[in-house]
Order: sequence, then C-alpha cells, then structure tokens
Amino acid sequence: MEENQIEPQLGERIGRRIIFFPLPLQGHINPMLQLANILHSIGFSITIIHTKLNSPNPTNYPHFTFHQILSEFDEYSDILSLLTMLNEKCVEPFKQALSELLGDKSGDPIGCLISDAILYFTTDVAKSFNLPRIVLRTGGVASFLTFAAFPVLLQKGYLPIKDSRLEEPVIELPPLRVKDLPLIKTSQPEKLYSLLHNMIEETKSSSGLIWNTFEELEQPSLTKLRQDFPIPIFPIGPFHKHFASPSSSLIPEDQISSISWLDKQANNSVVYVSFGSIASIEEKDFLEIAQGLASSKHPFLWVVRPGLIRGADWLEPLPQDFLDLLNGRGHIVKWAPQVEVLVHRAVGAFWTHNGWNSTLESICEGVPMICMPCFTDQLVNARYVSDVWRVGLQLENGNLERGEIEKAIQKVMVEKEGEEIRERVLCLKEKASICLRPGGSSYEFLKSLKNYISLF
Ligand code: UDP
Repeated sequence: MEENQIEPQLGERIGRRIIFFPLPLQGHINPMLQLANILHSIGFSITIIHTKLNSPNPTNYPHFTFHQILSEFDEYSDILSLLTMLNEKCVEPFKQALSELLGDKSGDPIGCLISDAILYFTTDVAKSFNLPRIVLRTGGVASFLTFAAFPVLLQKGYLPIKDSRLEEPVIELPPLRVKDLPLIKTSQPEKLYSLLHNMIEETKSSSGLIWNTFEELEQPSLTKLRQDFPIPIFPIGPFHKHFASPSSSLIPEDQISSISWLDKQANNSVVYVSFGSIASIEEKDFLEIAQGLASSKHPFLWVVRPGLIRGADWLEPLPQDFLDLLNGRGHIVKWAPQVEVLVHRAVGAFWTHNGWNSTLESICEGVPMICMPCFTDQLVNARYVSDVWRVGLQLENGNLERGEIEKAIQKVMVEKEGEEIRERVLCLKEKASICLRPGGSSYEFLKSLKNYISLF
C-alpha cells in the first residue's frame, strides 16, 4: 500500500453511479480518469461517456463502463474550432447517451454528472434530466480566475494585447504582466472570448467545482474563487498522487528505452524536455533548442512528439552531425512515461511548456522547472512557477537562442540559484504529499465531496 493511499474505511460501496464526460484532449483525459479512479476507490460506480476522437482504452479500466458517442467527426483547423465544435455537435448524442443510461435501472442509480469545465453545453442537457452537474476544471485556479477576469481586462484595454504593452503589469492580477494573459493565436478572438464566457458562466451555475490542485499551493487564488463562485469547491489534488492509476496516454509511451537510458545517468544530471500534447514549434526554434541542449553539456531526455515541429513529420530537420555529436548524451523519444521519468533519481530539471498537469507533476516530484509556455493557461502557470512559488526560471520573451538556453540550463542545474529553486520545490513536494494524508486538506475535501455526492 502506498503512503498516500486513502484509508480503507473511506472505501465502502456507496451504491451510486457517477457519469464522467472528459474533454477529448490528453491534458484533460488524464486528470478526469484519475478522478474517476479516486471516486471509484471510495465506493462509487463509474461510467465514462467519451467521443470516438481520442477515445480512452477501456481495457485499462475494467472496473468502469464506457459509452461512446459522436463517431463522425468534422475536420477542425485549430484547437479553438475543435472546442467550439464539440460544444455544438455533442448536444444530441450526449442527450441520447444520458437518456439511455438513466433509463437503465439494472445498476446503481446515477447520482450526478462530472464534466469538463470546457464542455459547458452539458449544463442544459443535465438540467433537462434533473441531473446535478459537477464541474472538473483540469487547470490551475490562478489561470481560471484570469479567464474569469476577461470582461474586466477587455474593458480596461489590456485585451486585445498591444505589443507595446507586453511588459506592463496587470494591476488587477498580480504578478501577471500583459504578456502572461492566457490567449491563443486566433483570427477570431470573439470566438475565444465567447467560449471562455460560457465556460465561466456554466461553471458558476454548476452544483460544485472539483480542482486538481491543493489548498497549500493556491490558497490566495482559492480564497478569491470562493468569493466569486459561491458553490461548493473541492480542491482534492494532486490526483495522480492519491495512488497509481493505469496509463491514459493516447500515444504509446516509450517506457523501456526512456527508463533504461535514465538508469545509466548520474543522479540529478538529466534535463527532461517535453512540451506536452498540443503545443507546436517552428523548425528554427526546434533547431535552436537542439543546439542549446548540445552546448549545455548536460545529458537530456527529449520528447519530440510527432507533430511538435510545424511542417515536419518527426526528426527530419535535425542534422546528422547533431545526432552523431550527442553520442548517447541525449535520448529522443516520441512520448515518455512522464510521471515515471520525473520520479527518476537521474532527472535534475524539467524544461516544460507548463501545461497544468506537467507543472503539478514536476512540483510533486520536487523537480525544478525551466519554463517555456506557449499559449493559454500555460502562460499564467509559468508566471506562478517563476515568480510566486519560485520553483523555476522562465526563458523570458520566448527567447529561444542557444546561448540563453545554455545559460538557463546552467543556472538551474549547477548554480546557487538552481540550488535555492530545488530547496523550494522540495518543500512544495512535501506539502503535496502531506495534503493527501488523513487530516490533510485534499484528504478532507475528498471526504466532503464523497458526502456531498452521496446525498444526490
Ligand atoms: N505526458 C506524458 N508523456 C509525455 C508528455 C506528456 O505522459 O511524453 C503527459 C503528462 O504527464 C501530462 C499530460 O501528458 O499528464 C500533458 O498535460 P499538460 O497539462 O501538461 O499539457 P497539455 O498536453 O495539455 O498541453
């Protein structure tokens, strides 16, 4: 039994089924399935409604039932179009699925729906069946509050962003600067504002809000959230540390080569580099990263996901002499078992895009970060990592120049600043562990969540 496992007395069967509906993206599927596992472990039965797109592998979850909807998919050109389309195209199939599941009287009665915050359309559908809807927000609280502040930011002229104001502080949201506002590049900003508005409003109208965060990490933001969102709020993270869940990776993990390569490296010597499941970069930036890693002289494990480099299938842009030069000092994989990598004694730093899951996973293993946020909430997460928790450094202004990269790696891996960062992140790691033990904040919030859902 792992140290943080939930007490067995929490685990008796409750005789209630919970329906989950994840957003079909890796960074949303992982925490949703982890949450489903947590709630299963404390006695609930679980059904997952999912789209055919990025469908989870049911064989990894024999204790859940799965219900697929929306097998036909329109082409989508970018992430914003996908999110908008899901909120339009899923309405009828989701209604149909709920109607079937609620009509089936053979199993435990259905207590509530837990849906991703971005799938705001589920509010009306759940309401039409009188089914309570609880929201899971898979990002951090600070970035959510920034999204909630968009109307004010628009009114005060911070948005749309003007290049001349990038370094200005956002007085209303310290320590954010204008360049940290969580946007994505789009020719249709109105579409983005409308999506965020709907997400915020339909979260406010929900029966409760679950977070993959913990009180000690985001206390000031949680306090503000409780003022602005007067609904029950349950920060019960870090989800993945409650106990080991089966993998929900959509891309096969290169488990064997990643870990056996790390096994050959010295303690705290490796820079682990990954930019998550969605971000993409220009070829020139990719080459600069490669050169920066080469000149840093540190070993590195680099996740180059197919699709990471715009216009390339995989590693074709890398010159052969770079690969020859490495001579085993670097190892490149398409997808890594990230949590296992971060736990490994050889990893000394994580060069990350600061997706919320990656940020939390790094904190939980006490790994200092080099932050290179690309868009949306990653920008806010990175600012909190570098300026609030002070557990990482930012490559400011997306300064992808090999000399700057080399300097940042040196600072984190060998200099005094890096040592101080490591001490602080180890302290947060300890807090992340304590909050899951009996009497800890996430443990207690999980107990109240259990009681709350049991009453539905
Ligand atoms: N991940 C992984 N292997 C990789 C890269 C990422 O398993 O090589 C996982 C990572 O552990 C995290 C998720 O994919 O749980 C990425 O989520 P995150 O919020 O960090 O970023 P996103 O992919 O949503 O941008």
